[in-house]
Amino acid sequence: MLKELIDKFYLAQQRDRQQFHFYISDAGKCSRSIFFKFKNAPRAKMEPRILRIFEHGEYLHRNIFNILYRLKIGVTTEVPIPAQAIISGRADAILSINNENYVLDIKSMNSGIFRNLAAPKQENVYQIQLYLHYFNIKKGILLYIDKDKQELKEFIVHYDPNLTQSLLKNFEELKKKIDADTVPPVLPDYPEYWQCSYCQFREICDRAGREELSWTEFKKKMTPEPSPNQLF
Ligand code: SF4
Repeated sequence: MLKELIDKFYLAQQRDRQQFHFYISDAGKCSRSIFFKFKNAPRAKMEPRILRIFEHGEYLHRNIFNILYRLKIGVTTEVPIPAQAIISGRADAILSINNENYVLDIKSMNSGIFRNLAAPKQENVYQIQLYLHYFNIKKGILLYIDKDKQELKEFIVHYDPNLTQSLLKNFEELKKKIDADTVPPVLPDYPEYWQCSYCQFREICDRAGREELSWTEFKKKMTPEPSPNQLF
């Protein structure tokens, strides 16, 4: 009874927003799923449980911000990157420790993943590299929180201009596909890859097949389908 009311509350908060520009958090994400967000393609609702996990993550972030302020290490939190055409984002914080500036990115995860984390996750490195690029700061800290046990791990990331250029080039190429209405191919490890397991566009992605294809042609092919979820 109460559980249903709480779940309903979370589901009602959910909005399927069309995306109009890239976010730094898109770095390392499946190009096809980003394409579908730009086209506001039909997507599955997120489970209330997942929404609660995100909410808990935000709470842990705020808790760390509070500690940083109290440590007085020159903190600015939730700092937007300078405005430019292709990408937007907000770094968790910029810190000054021993007269050196760092971009801070905080990630939370369950104990199972945390325990085995010997190096920062690749997609997190991509994101912090872009922050370093846009803030012109040479070092970043990826701070991981074990949500279950409250342990912390940190990794220092050094700015890598070559990696950053290749990430920006990927965004530019994807933008061209979005403008040309060309749906990118699936990920090489589709459908086993972890991103596919959580993907809200899984159904439409399966129907589109593995290869690159025309979004306009795909929509035409799908329109006669009677499913009420297929509203383009
Ligand atoms: S199911 Fe996998 S390949 Fe398809 S859009 Fe989602 S993440 Fe990408």
